Amino acid sequence: MDNTRPSRSGKGRSNANSNNKKKSYGRNSGGGGKRDRRGSGGGRSNHNYIPLPAEMMVHQGVPLKTVAYHAETKFPDWKINAKLKSAIKAAGWVYPTEIQEKTFEDIAAMKDVMGIATTGTGKTGAFLIPLIDALLESDKPFQTLVLAPTRELALQIEQEFRTLTLGMKYNAITLIGGRNINTDIVNLKKRSYHLVVATPGRLKDLYQQGKIDLQEASVLVLDEFDRMLDMGFQKDVTYLADKIGERDQTLLFSATLDKSQQKLIDHFLTDPVTVKVSSGEASAEHINQTVKFVDPDDKFDTLIDMLKEPEMKRVLIFAETKHRVKKVTKKLNQAGISADEIHGNKSQNYRQKALGAFKQGKIKALCATDVAARGLDIDDITHVINFEAPTDYDTYIHRVGRTGRAGKGGEAITLYDK
Ligand code: AMP
Repeated sequence: MDNTRPSRSGKGRSNANSNNKKKSYGRNSGGGGKRDRRGSGGGRSNHNYIPLPAEMMVHQGVPLKTVAYHAETKFPDWKINAKLKSAIKAAGWVYPTEIQEKTFEDIAAMKDVMGIATTGTGKTGAFLIPLIDALLESDKPFQTLVLAPTRELALQIEQEFRTLTLGMKYNAITLIGGRNINTDIVNLKKRSYHLVVATPGRLKDLYQQGKIDLQEASVLVLDEFDRMLDMGFQKDVTYLADKIGERDQTLLFSATLDKSQQKLIDHFLTDPVTVKVSSGEASAEHINQTVKFVDPDDKFDTLIDMLKEPEMKRVLIFAETKHRVKKVTKKLNQAGISADEIHGNKSQNYRQKALGAFKQGKIKALCATDVAARGLDIDDITHVINFEAPTDYDTYIHRVGRTGRAGKGGEAITLYDK
């Protein structure tokens, strides 16, 4: 493979989609699809509500260990540059993860790849290893631009790049909100970068101020793509990808594969190879999922009784409308259970305060609509309760996936009208 390695430096391969593709996607903000319409509503009348069948929400959680992947190869045997091998060894990695093993050849061959994998599966290494190898083997340097939904993820990617380029002289920069933009501007002027990791908002800002040349990037990585859509970055991501325009390769990683995103994915990728990994948290395999059938009149009392159980330490409760979220919160507080609410009728400031209190354990329960709970990443949520069943499975998995983070188990309980 070393001899046939394709070169990324020339921005040679044109992206068939990149020329005449600005037409439609940019206009829709948010993720599109069912969740948008339903969750942001609140005025939806109840007789249109068709809950997901109860049997789809029952599952005995499997410990993550038992769904672990058994690699067929190990890094010392990989045909990659010796310097990279040393860095991987220094990181203490011996066996590739599933996503790493299954995407390497295609990424190294400069194909567009869509990886269905979530955080914790080693997806960062999956794209960094072949790209660093290409940098080491290439005559001309090239730039990879990674778009990530959150500051934390962006910083983790930069950190992993530093780990995997130990002893090499490559430059990386992270451009994220919440930091002084003037520092970014000064740093961007100083040198060119092999890796640029950015959140969409800050990068767009820098681009519009004329401080970064997006056409320098030969490779675009869209990391946690579904989450970027969840967080309302669709317009910015499309804008930025269009400004990069022609590129050698685009890689997209997403925890879920949602049919409603297909058109948008086609916009970014050309003839992609899709790799779906079985390990990881995306499927909620490791979460215990149960359904409790209740008389609609007893629903509040049932919820209150459940929340009195000592194992219910940090509970995220979903309801279908803002109005219902409000009512659930009120009932819980009246019953002496500390709870707060996040939904579209609450200001950003209010929501952040409620979230802070929940994270710090000052309140036991946080009640939310699907839209308000987008992009939430809170550790140690012990239970997710669906006060009402969602109407589609994708929304269900998104809700349930808020517990059982970082490889831990979790419980999801759906209250189902008798
Ligand atoms: P990620 O899914 O990219 O966020 O990676 C999850 C964690 O696994 C990170 O802490 C990585 O440093 C680590 N990791 C990634 N690949 C490997 C590997 N092949 N062996 C051991 N640890 C890894």
